[in-house]
Amino acid sequence: MIQRLSFEFFPANTEQGRRSLERTRGRLTAYAPEFYSVTYGAGGSTRDRTFDAVAAIAADAMPVAPHLSIGNDDHDTLRKLLDRYRDLGINRIVALRGDVPSGMGSRRNVRYAAELVELIRSHSGNAFHIEVAAYPEAHPDAPSPDADLDFFHAKVSAGANSAITQYFFNADAYFDFVDRCRARGIDVPIVPGIMPITNFANLVKFSDNCGAEIPRWIRLRLESHQDDPESLTQFGTEVVTDLCRRLLAGGAPGLHFYTLNRARPSQAVLDNLAD
Ligand code: FAD
Repeated sequence: MIQRLSFEFFPANTEQGRRSLERTRGRLTAYAPEFYSVTYGAGGSTRDRTFDAVAAIAADAMPVAPHLSIGNDDHDTLRKLLDRYRDLGINRIVALRGDVPSGMGSRRNVRYAAELVELIRSHSGNAFHIEVAAYPEAHPDAPSPDADLDFFHAKVSAGANSAITQYFFNADAYFDFVDRCRARGIDVPIVPGIMPITNFANLVKFSDNCGAEIPRWIRLRLESHQDDPESLTQFGTEVVTDLCRRLLAGGAPGLHFYTLNRARPSQAVLDNLAD
């Protein structure tokens, strides 16, 4: 059994989407995750929907962690939201900078996730276990991999308890990142983020945006399967299963699945891992 398993959802924006998400969660409950998490739209665009989705999961007595990004919110707005989550019995937060909402261009103030981690600690003490993001292949805005590591270190020094990585398909990037963290004395658990592969075009788009590299051999094989969704999913599941096996065998403390609100792609990988 995987020690520390978690599943990430995004908040649905229709009644049908909410029902579908409930079914997805129902299926994934069988894998006994340590927690579910719910994303927070760029610039706070899903603030209420994220809260409602988190409340629905908490109402079923399931552990859930809201994502919270600093965006352009003032500290007072963020403190109020933290209080509402604490009142709901939430004890884990995924603290992020967030991305610039489309249309805002450069009007956004330059702020970083470390500021949010500091705010959570100063306002809520130890009420929340704080997760932060980590980037084994370096964040696309980082001036250099070393600078990115310095900034990750700053989030941990500000009070983060553990980290979830951006997805990647090269296990060596993860192991190298963890080694570099340990060499600097960063000793928090770093859980790999896992993206199941089900759609070539979407994967390429996401990966270009977030700086995740799709190795050439995987990209070419996926491309050759792109008109046959079944064989693409089968190949993608094999690739991601092998990645997870290598990560767990190499000491990864758990797995965090980017489910995109679908159960089956994560289930396929987890069932393979259990064989
Ligand atoms: P930071 O840690 O602040 O880093 C952002 C960039 O700034 C990096 O390039 C870093 O090197 C640089 N940097 C940091 N500090 C400094 C400094 N002091 N000076 C100069 N440069 C600095 N986005 C959402 O909008 N909603 C979500 O729910 C969401 N969930 C996510 C969950 C996970 C597990 C991950 C990995 C990402 C998620 N994202 C989400 C995406 C994330 O918001 C983006 O990747 C964003 O661009 C960076 O967020 P961060 O928290 O890593 O930022």
